[in-house]
Amino acid sequence: MALPIVAVVGRPNVGKSTFVNRIVGGQDAIVHEMRGVTRDRSYHEADWNGVHFTLIDTGGIEMGNDDAFQESIRNQAVMATQEADAVVFLVDGRTGAAPDDLEVARILKRSGKPVVLAVNKMDAPGKEDGLWEFYSLGLGDPWPISSIHGHGTGDLLDEVVGYIKDIPVEEEEDVDSINIAIIGRPNAGKSSLTNKLIGRERAIVSDVAGTTRDAVDTTVEHDGKFYMIVDTAGLRKKSKIDEDVEYYSFVRAMRAIDRADVAILVIDATIGLTDQDQRVAGFAAERGCAMIVLMNKRDIVESGEVLDELRETIGDRLMFVGYAPVISISALTGKGVSRIWEAVDAAYENYSSQVSTSKLNAWLQHIREFGHTVSQGKKVLKMKYVTQTRTCPPEFTFFVNHPELINDNYQRFLENRLRQAFDLSGTPIRFKFKKKD
Ligand code: GDP
Ligand code: GDP
Repeated sequence: MALPIVAVVGRPNVGKSTFVNRIVGGQDAIVHEMRGVTRDRSYHEADWNGVHFTLIDTGGIEMGNDDAFQESIRNQAVMATQEADAVVFLVDGRTGAAPDDLEVARILKRSGKPVVLAVNKMDAPGKEDGLWEFYSLGLGDPWPISSIHGHGTGDLLDEVVGYIKDIPVEEEEDVDSINIAIIGRPNAGKSSLTNKLIGRERAIVSDVAGTTRDAVDTTVEHDGKFYMIVDTAGLRKKSKIDEDVEYYSFVRAMRAIDRADVAILVIDATIGLTDQDQRVAGFAAERGCAMIVLMNKRDIVESGEVLDELRETIGDRLMFVGYAPVISISALTGKGVSRIWEAVDAAYENYSSQVSTSKLNAWLQHIREFGHTVSQGKKVLKMKYVTQTRTCPPEFTFFVNHPELINDNYQRFLENRLRQAFDLSGTPIRFKFKKKD
């Protein structure tokens, strides 16, 4: 279910994570963390007086290696206003209003989104002289709070919830449609591909989903099945600065991936694989999307060798999504495009498949007899039982005597063997190990 989104924005050390922890407290549920992709950004499910929402701790967002501080704060604010329904702007009551606060306030104001200004670290209620200077930010009444002690946070949440309580909660998308995110760098050919996929088929709906979510999703029928193409394109018009284009396309891709079953990564074969392709693929894998990799623009690559080399590079640098089929296409001429449908169907089938417990345990028996195990001192790993505990993507839980012995190598071994035994191409799989003596 897509809940309303509240983003917490502010300079480092003003107390964002302390604040978020106080609100989500024991009920947390980090919905997901995106370490390595954007630093320390985390989504949490929260609830105040029966209003459910997603709280984003925007952490220290940084793009690239250019850790220009201002830039990162600005990005964080822009990102928040893009995706949030309301923003909590946290400032530090002990240090007073900093120039960066002013800059952020300006961005937030321009966005038109509701912003609640919280002055944190006001640990002694009543001693609130420091509050006045924050009026200069032009965001209305500042709310004094102490995230550590909890003073004021209730009133603040009442205010925040007031802005989001009437936003209709979006229901899960039609269970019958497969959600597809087409991701990749600007100019890789995403829109051309989307048009090709839609163009040949009957587009059923094309509407703007949600109030603040400005993606345009299109549902398409192909061979009697429904596919929803979650938009990630259409960004170029918004910004003239190159860096911003990359940045926004990345943000948009992340949002699309969040709602997708299958991610289609479009690589421009005339350019080759880039760091951003790698990052976006990593993110899709982390989120558990099934995946297909396309080498686009095959009509203008110099030779077949270029494609072979690219395929090899993909094998190397996208090894972590080794399960994804790689297909060469031309979004312009349409060559290879029909194969995408088959690949999506296959990937989705495996992504949503349920392997029977008896087959899994027959496989496990085979591993016990012919595979290898791990040990440490006197401890020898014994796997007793395995069962699939989730689908979309498949998750397998192993009951073992010493879960602590399992290392990455051993997991890779199990994954390889499992993939040899069962068709799980196109989909990531997850493992869990539980103790059972
Ligand atoms: P973030 O970088 O914005 O996520 O900030 P943190 O939540 O990590 O907090 C930075 C520092 O401020 C930590 O040492 C916190 O303990 C401290 N801090 C956070 N909230 C409060 C508060 O309400 N009062 C006081 N005195 N310190 C706080
Ligand atoms: P997006 O930014 O990823 O949505 O990329 P577009 O679909 O807008 O494509 C960027 C440019 O590449 C446009 O000029 C397209 O016409 C061109 N293009 C896209 N796919 C192909 C292809 O398969 N072959 C060739 N020759 N050009 C392509």
